[in-house]
Amino acid sequence: MPFSLIPHQVLERYTQVTPALLERLGVRLLLCDLDYTLAPKSVPQPDGTLHTWLEELRQAGVTVMILSNNRSSRRVETFCRELGIRYVGHAGKPRVGGYRAAMEQAGIPAEQTAMLGDKLLTDVLGARRSGILALMVEPLGGPVGAWNHVLHLLQRPFKAIAKRRCTIS
Ligand SMILES: [Mg+2]
Repeated sequence: MPFSLIPHQVLERYTQVTPALLERLGVRLLLCDLDYTLAPKSVPQPDGTLHTWLEELRQAGVTVMILSNNRSSRRVETFCRELGIRYVGHAGKPRVGGYRAAMEQAGIPAEQTAMLGDKLLTDVLGARRSGILALMVEPLGGPVGAWNHVLHLLQRPFKAIAKRRCTIS
C-alpha cells in the first residue's frame, strides 16, 4: 500500500478547486473533508459561497461527496442535506474503507477521484493510500486550539515540498 504524506497540490481554499482544474486533472468525483475545509467547525450551516461553488461543480458534471471523521453525525447530515450531496460519515480516515465506499456509491474509479482536505494525517494520507489525488487546503477560519496550531505547524514542511514539486501544473 503506497505511503506518502505529500499532497499533489496545495491550495489556499476550496474555492480554488474549479471545474477547469478538475477537468485538467480528469477528476469526476471530488471527496471533501468538512471541518476546516468547507467550513470552520463552528459554522453549523453551509453559506452562499459553498452553495455557489457546489452548483458550479455540479453543472460541470463533477460529483461531490463529503468524507468526514466528525464524531457528530448530525452535523455532517445537516450540512449534506442542506447541500443536497451524499456523505460517508465516521469515515475513519486515513483508513481506506471510507474512500472506497464513497467511490463505490458514486460508481467512479480511483483514477478519476480526488480528496480535498486540510489534514495530512487523515485526508492526505488516506487519499494517498487509496491511490487517488490529494488536494490540500489551508484550514478555513485558521487552526482552532493549541493542538491544531501545532498540527498545522508540523504540516508546513510537507506542504512546502508539495509546492516546490508542483506535481500538477
Ligand atoms: Mg478537516
